[in-house]
Amino acid sequence: MPGEFALIDRIRARARRRPDVAVGIGDDAAVLRLPPGHELVVTSDTLVAGVHFPLETAAADLGWKALAVNLSDLAAMAAAPAWCTLALTLPEADAGFVEAFLDGFLELADAHDVSLVGGDTTSGPLSITVTAHGLVPAGAALRRDGARVGDEVWVTGTLGDAAGALSQWRARGPASAKLRYRLDRPTPRVAAGLALRGLATAGIDLSDGLAADLGHVMRASGRGARIDLGRLPTSRTLADHFEETQRWPLQLSGGDDYELCFTAPPAAAFAIEQALAACDTAATVIGQVQAGEGLAFVTPEGEDYVPARAGFQHFQGVH
Ligand code: ADP
Ligand code: MG
Repeated sequence: MPGEFALIDRIRARARRRPDVAVGIGDDAAVLRLPPGHELVVTSDTLVAGVHFPLETAAADLGWKALAVNLSDLAAMAAAPAWCTLALTLPEADAGFVEAFLDGFLELADAHDVSLVGGDTTSGPLSITVTAHGLVPAGAALRRDGARVGDEVWVTGTLGDAAGALSQWRARGPASAKLRYRLDRPTPRVAAGLALRGLATAGIDLSDGLAADLGHVMRASGRGARIDLGRLPTSRTLADHFEETQRWPLQLSGGDDYELCFTAPPAAAFAIEQALAACDTAATVIGQVQAGEGLAFVTPEGEDYVPARAGFQHFQGVH
C-alpha cells in the first residue's frame, strides 16, 4: 500500500503544467502568473460519498464530476478556467482508486487546458473538494444581479436528465444508460459561458434545479420571472422514460443539470444564437423577466404550477 507521498507523486507525475504555472505540485503552495488586465475568479465544491453521489459510482466518473461542477461555476461567471487544486479525503491509500479517479479528472482538465497545481491528501470518509481558478478581463464576469425587466430567460442543453437517472436509481427499476451518463459525466458549458460575455445580463449554472437557481438570480436582480413549462428543453431519452407531468419536478427541482441559465434582452437573441451555435451549444428561451419578485411557472394549458420543492438543501430543517 502506498502512503500519502507516493499518491501525491503519482498525481504530480500525471498532471500537465501550463506555462503560467511558476510553481506547481511539490512546494508548500502554488505560484501562478495572472495575465495583465484580468481578474481571478475562484470557486470551490465538495462531493461527499452518499450525499452527492451513490457509493458505487465509478472512480473515473467521480474524478470527472468533481472537476466538472467547478468548471460549471466558472462557466456561469464567463471565466476561462486555468488552474485547480484537489483535496482528497480517502478511507485508505488505494492507488487503484486514485489512478482511476485521475483518469476522469485529468481527461476533463486536459480538455479545458486546466492545470492541477496542488491540493491535500488526508485519510477519512471519502470526500473530494476541488477549487478551480479562472480568468476574466477586468469587469467582464457574468453575475447574478444584472437581469432586467423584459429580458428573456434562456437555458443551454436539456433539463432533467440527471434527475431522471437519480429517480430511476432510487426506484431500483429499469434505468437508462444515457440518463445515467448525464448524471455521472455532466458537461460544463465552458465555451458557452465565454461566448455570453457582453451578451447576457445575468447568469448561473444549474446545480440545484431551475426553480432554486433561477430564484437566486431573480432575488439578486430584484426581479421576478415567468417560465413556460411547455418550452423546457427536454431530451428524447427523458421523454421516452417520463411523462410530461412526471418530468416537471425533475426539470424544475431535480438538480445536477450543470446547464447555464441566463438572461438577455430580446435584441441580443440573434447574436446569442450565433455565438452558441459556434460552440455547438443548444440554447432555448423558456420565459421572461418581469417586475416584482418570485417565479411563476405556467403549464401549456395556461395554469399556474407550483414546483414540489425548491432544490436540494443541506441542513434542511436545522435552525
Ligand atoms: P504541506 O504539508 O506543506 O501542506 P503536502 O504534503 O500536503 O504539503 O503536499 C505536498 C505537495 O503536494 C503540495 O504542493 C500540495 O499542493 C500537493 N498535493 C497534496 N495532495 C494533493 C492532491 N490530492 N492533488 C494535487 N496536489 C496535491
Ligand atoms: Mg498538507
